[in-house]
Amino acid sequence: MHCLRLLAVAAVLITAPALASENASSYRITIDLARCQNDRVHVRVDLPRGLTCNPCRYVLPRSVPGTYSLDRYGRFVVDARAYDSSGAELPVTRDDDDIVVTGTPAWLEYQVNDTWDEPNTDVFNPTGSNIECDTNFVLNFHAFAGYIEGTKHYRYTVVITKPHGFYGATSLQRIAASDSADTFSARSYMELVDNPAMYCRPDTVSFDQSGTRVMVAVYSPNRVMRAESVASVIKPTLAAVARLLGKMPVERYTFLFYFAGRQQRNIVGNLSFGALEHSTSSFYFLPEGRGADRTGEEMIQSTAAHEFLHILVPLHLHSNEIADFDFRNPRMSRHLWLYEGCTEYFQMLARAHDTLMTPDAFVRELMGNLRMMRVFYRQRSVSLVELSQRVLEPEYQKMYPVIYMHGPVVAFCLDVTIRQLTNGQKTLLSTIRTLMEKYGPERPFRDEALFDEFSDLVHPSLRDFFRRYVEGTELPPIAECLAAIGYRYTDSSTVEAYQFRNTSIMLSRTSDTPVVVMRQPDNDFGFRNGDTLVRINGILVTPENKYDLLSAYIWAPRSSDTVAVIVRRAEGEVELRAAPQPTQRTVRHTVSPDPAPTPQARFLYREFFGK
Ligand SMILES: [Zn+2]
Repeated sequence: MHCLRLLAVAAVLITAPALASENASSYRITIDLARCQNDRVHVRVDLPRGLTCNPCRYVLPRSVPGTYSLDRYGRFVVDARAYDSSGAELPVTRDDDDIVVTGTPAWLEYQVNDTWDEPNTDVFNPTGSNIECDTNFVLNFHAFAGYIEGTKHYRYTVVITKPHGFYGATSLQRIAASDSADTFSARSYMELVDNPAMYCRPDTVSFDQSGTRVMVAVYSPNRVMRAESVASVIKPTLAAVARLLGKMPVERYTFLFYFAGRQQRNIVGNLSFGALEHSTSSFYFLPEGRGADRTGEEMIQSTAAHEFLHILVPLHLHSNEIADFDFRNPRMSRHLWLYEGCTEYFQMLARAHDTLMTPDAFVRELMGNLRMMRVFYRQRSVSLVELSQRVLEPEYQKMYPVIYMHGPVVAFCLDVTIRQLTNGQKTLLSTIRTLMEKYGPERPFRDEALFDEFSDLVHPSLRDFFRRYVEGTELPPIAECLAAIGYRYTDSSTVEAYQFRNTSIMLSRTSDTPVVVMRQPDNDFGFRNGDTLVRINGILVTPENKYDLLSAYIWAPRSSDTVAVIVRRAEGEVELRAAPQPTQRTVRHTVSPDPAPTPQARFLYREFFGK
């Protein structure tokens, strides 16, 4: 935050505040998808009447809510032109990626490139834009439109012309639609940015779930994923979320899914899978994978539950930094532990509270988070408040993913502590709910007051929890927290294992065929480069199971039994055999159910998991 502000201040061009005489003034943005060419679209922006700025700065966001990264969307806007009300062209300069017009413009025109195509831009795909003229458009509107400084609260009308047969899926309010164009309305720039759209040939499914009207829209280039199958995963996920929440917080919701095909991964190396939350929709960028198998379903389930649960935080409970988001000089809140940490924890809890995940799997997932966290904290651990406030600085940006590991662990221990301090009367969720009633989307809390507010609602000693484990760098007492719900935790233990001496082989990444491209010359089996794996212990090796088989029989064998591998070489099929050696391995962060839990632990277990 500090570093950003300094950078921006140096580049500020003084512009007079833009004032509009009538409150009827509004933006009219025309995005011409129908005449898209070379992965670029033309945008015309009719500006509010009565602007008095001169020069006028048309702000294109540096960052948007929910992303916690600095993306400078103005970079993708080119060939900017400005005109006054008589149609005369006005001089335009670019400053800090914004468009600065000398004079008072009536409209702007420019071309937009998409963020997905540009190499090395590091824009997280779910927050960026995709322009593939014939097949698919992902419209995160902050990548297509901005606002004249001081007028982000004005109304927006957005007209989108579309190629024949395309449908635009979005939660944005549609006020008119024809075969060739759609017209939408947003009450402000913030509302526009909060409602992405995806245009492509339609593959959508709508259904009602627990009182919410849900639409699932899917784009999958190889038609591996279909809206029907994605919806069949979303439905039980939302049912689980509804059971946790009691009542659904929204009347309608749109899930926008873009599944990237294998061919895209080969073209663009820096794809970033994930999703971004909005008030009544979420956008997903996930791999097409092998279709709706167990891993694919699990991925959709956990990300969809996470994004949907963001409705609680930050969408309905947030501080000023988010409520009045500064698109030019974003200021970061100190509460990423709440926005991302608690949300990730709640998605796990919702699934474990329902039948989608067992309590044991919930606890194992927490342990997985602890293990991954260690990788990030090899150098030093950070305070979650520090990470949150400085997340836009490169050093902290690199650490950002740790919030999804450290955050849910802290949230879990916080939940245990709240339940213990209140004898089960209050929970983390109920406390957040109480705060949501006091505050809300339009009533932000003071960023620096939240820890005190929490403690006032629960117990004075909760302040110490925040001081040590959220503001400070101490890890919460995970062993005690797990014992409280009847699990035994071991920080580190030694287990029997089996191991081949030299088996680090690598398979071809460019081909589905399991061909060995690298191996240790003296490997136990005698693998050679160019060997194609045919069978491992009698099981046929396929593109789908190759890594599972390697892992189960060669990388981490579970017994000392000899393993037989049949490989194909120029001379035909050859059988290679080797036996692993017994060894010992250190495992970190293991848990097991306590065989004789205390009555309190049994009570808390039931409270946590509802079973
Ligand atoms: Zn999130």
